Amino acid sequence: MDFQENEKRSLNFIESIIEEDLQVNKNQGRVHLRFPPEPNGYLHIGHAKSICLNFGLANEYNGLCNLRFDDTNPEKEDVEYVDSIMEDISWLGFDWDGDPKYASDYFQQLYDWSVQLIKEGKAYVDEQPQELISEQRGVPTRPGIDSPYRNRPVEESLDLFERMKNGEFSTGDMILRSKIDMSSPNMHMRDPIMYRILHQTHHRTGDDWCIYPMYDWAHGQSDFIEGITHSVCTLEFEIHRPLYDWALDQIVEGDYRPRQIEFARLNLSYTVMSKRKLLELVKDNHVNGWDDPRMPTISGFRRRGYTPESIRNFADRIGVAKRDNVIDVSLLEFSVREHLNQIAPRALAVLDPIKVVITNYPESKVEELELANNQNDENAGTRIVPFTRELYIERDDFMEDPPKKFFRLGPEREVRLVGAYIIKCEDFKKDAEGNITEVYCTYDPDTKSGGAGAKRKVKGTIHWVSAEKAVDAEVRLYDRLFVDEDPDGHKDKNFKEFLNPDSLKVLQNCKIEPAFSTVKPGDKLQFQRLGYFCVDKDSSHNKLVINRTVPLRDSWSKRK
Ligand code: ATP
Ligand code: MG
Repeated sequence: MDFQENEKRSLNFIESIIEEDLQVNKNQGRVHLRFPPEPNGYLHIGHAKSICLNFGLANEYNGLCNLRFDDTNPEKEDVEYVDSIMEDISWLGFDWDGDPKYASDYFQQLYDWSVQLIKEGKAYVDEQPQELISEQRGVPTRPGIDSPYRNRPVEESLDLFERMKNGEFSTGDMILRSKIDMSSPNMHMRDPIMYRILHQTHHRTGDDWCIYPMYDWAHGQSDFIEGITHSVCTLEFEIHRPLYDWALDQIVEGDYRPRQIEFARLNLSYTVMSKRKLLELVKDNHVNGWDDPRMPTISGFRRRGYTPESIRNFADRIGVAKRDNVIDVSLLEFSVREHLNQIAPRALAVLDPIKVVITNYPESKVEELELANNQNDENAGTRIVPFTRELYIERDDFMEDPPKKFFRLGPEREVRLVGAYIIKCEDFKKDAEGNITEVYCTYDPDTKSGGAGAKRKVKGTIHWVSAEKAVDAEVRLYDRLFVDEDPDGHKDKNFKEFLNPDSLKVLQNCKIEPAFSTVKPGDKLQFQRLGYFCVDKDSSHNKLVINRTVPLRDSWSKRK
């Protein structure tokens, strides 16, 4: 018996609530959650946290989790977003229960409940302009002012509401309000809007409806219709909870009742997360679409080379809290490195090549060196790497006049080439501008890695590829999109002022060892000494395009 196996991490507050509910057999012991995105943008890493939480809880308690599109605002919603959301959730590794659900499936039921409320004197049609209604709501410390329509006859409201539905009025002419409490200290309870007129085609219901329910008059009801037991949302909805409960009070019969639970949303340093702002970046071409590898969207991270496992591990690490906080984006990058370190085959690639000629190596000779695909994982196997007289090394691994501590190549200096030989620089050539164009070296045949001569040690080891055999690639070096820790947190400055001008560098002339000439979009690699990389969807059989996912080490913590 292993004690450690029995040792459980302590429950988070949502798990505690669920376990208490299970103990008293609340809702017949069912656990049913939902993830309710509005299809008005692509999902971001904040949504990923919510997805991991909701679907994760369902898995943990043998429960279910629905996917429900909160599609009550046709002005901003689109099927493109619906499709991307489903793709992203599946990619993260989660399954929703049954078919995807839509709040719009419940429009008729929501309408019928509204009619019932009007009949009970708990809702009325208000014909005042929106500004006046807001003004009358007042401030939390003083009671608001009743609308002159508040006590209009039930028949009048019924008639007008039906005519609203039938399209007899224009947007803004009138709204349906619930009659709750104009003196409540909670502004959301001061006769909140239930329905507004919107002459707008809906991506699912077409032109069936020209009135649309507000979030607060759709969410709790949708939860109820679907049998949701725990309705987990972010903290900004805490203040809406009395209204959520009020709405349920109007429709619940019997024992079953959903419960809203709020947790702190994910905030990440160096990142903006609001869909509205992400859309702005896309529309103004600051990035190349929602899945640009610099975007904090799930599709962007996927394209960049992040794995579902790394995102799920990140979500586990940060846990759930009841108070807002900011998570350092380097923790996400750490989770990515941690997983890629396990799974990414090692490869030799030179991003900024200069040519090295091994003058004492025969011209047509090709040696096939066998290198491990992952030194930490014997099962990862080996591959053949050709060694030839002409090689490429990284431009910054050579210095004409290196300082003492530079343990790479320079005149008269020796380095080991990864998995190959020790070479010594004998000479080099420069062009008219003074750029190094070729480096001439000799190799020591007795120093082959893995062989008897491998014992001889030199201070530096550098990576290389065979000039003759290497394949060409375009490599896109991505870096953080913002240079400021809190791009959104400046009162007098727009977040776009903090865009990182160096967030993308495209290198056209990169050289990759030939074993990886057949990689496919999505494949992950570790380029030794450089970082983790991923083949981009722009790759084709005649052109490799490779994204840098993360450098091997975090260079940002030093910059601060
Ligand atoms: P944004 O504010 O970024 O536009 P949203 O809250 O409007 O996002 P929704 O589509 O309504 O986006 O969100 C779907 C679910 O994801 C909701 O339950 C919401 O609370 C949750 N969610 C959104 N952003 C975050 C976040 N940063 N951290 C955790 N959960 C989030
Ligand atoms: Mg929202």
